[in-house]
Amino acid sequence: EISNVNEHYFGAYGSYGIHKEMISDKVRTDAYRGAILNNPSLVKGSTVLDVGCGTGILSLFAAQAGASRVIAVEASEKMAMVASQIAKDNGLLLDGNRSGVISVVQCMIEELDKQLTVPRHSVDVLVSEWMGYCLLYESMLGSVLYARDKWLKPGGAILPDTATIFVAGFGKGGTSIPFWENVYGFDMSCIGKEVVEDAAQVPIIDVIDSQHIVTNTATLQTFDLLTMKSEGMDFTTSCELEVKRDLPEQYQSPLVSCYGVVLWFETGFTRRFCKEMPAVLSTSPYAPKTHWSQTIFTFREPIKMVASENVGADAETSQAIGTDECPFSRIQLRISIARAAQHRSIDISLEV
Ligand code: SAH
Repeated sequence: EISNVNEHYFGAYGSYGIHKEMISDKVRTDAYRGAILNNPSLVKGSTVLDVGCGTGILSLFAAQAGASRVIAVEASEKMAMVASQIAKDNGLLLDGNRSGVISVVQCMIEELDKQLTVPRHSVDVLVSEWMGYCLLYESMLGSVLYARDKWLKPGGAILPDTATIFVAGFGKGGTSIPFWENVYGFDMSCIGKEVVEDAAQVPIIDVIDSQHIVTNTATLQTFDLLTMKSEGMDFTTSCELEVKRDLPEQYQSPLVSCYGVVLWFETGFTRRFCKEMPAVLSTSPYAPKTHWSQTIFTFREPIKMVASENVGADAETSQAIGTDECPFSRIQLRISIARAAQHRSIDISLEV
């Protein structure tokens, strides 16, 4: 069954559309390109392993940056063939070509040994674009860690080398309720209600405008990709959200309703390895959007919050808040993320 899942997964990567989407995501591709090209002391003359090379774009950057050898590994048969052709067409394939440095190997990284002898701990730089929705959905991080432990030199670099998951609460405008409330002057809010009920079951991948973030941002989890173990991919963690200080105009009233939380991630190409020019790849709602969008979890019922400075404030504010309601100044979240048994998916549970 697992192999069926993989067949489906790598089959999907065999279609060009998905690669076009990734490459056109300039935030993504420029972050990698910058990390590789703007840190010549890291890449020049080094041996690079590209885990899941797709079209080979990251390997091409590495060759351009002066790597002396690039091993590009791709499980999808079709993409491995194409990557090889592309490297060749650009004079960068290692096939007797004087300037060629790239070898494309078609296999799961876990099977690389069967295809090519790569001495243990001989790789200077491991590069991979492994991130999925909400960082870990369909992610191939496990494969990257496997490659790290087997082939990365002591003191070798991994790009990116950190990953962080963030969370924040959003207001009504982060849902589709306002849209359905007024459709050419007609009230279609019954649809909005249904959509929100569905959204409380399954998270939505969509962009959320930072205008609708009503709480501070909390860090859910930070990974050090150089040292983390694969068990670290399953975790439970708690955090607290408060009404944020500089609330967007439309939410400025004593009571703020939090309709759910949004998760996103950043990966770091930190100064540890990118000494000349470190970089961050952010999928935050406060940053330019990427093909990962954000991951949106809607609550069954909105939670009424009040800014902590308004708790027990003057009589007028207390009046506005109302005596029969009990608004919270803080939401406590407990979030677990775990790899689902036989899928490349994840289970996320959220307790408020
Ligand atoms: N590096 C490319 C593609 C990234 S998408 C780019 O930046 O544009 C991830 C790629 O990794 C897909 O093409 C997928 O088929 C491949 N992949 C995923 N898991 C893999 C594994 N275990 N071994 C080899 N390739 C893998």
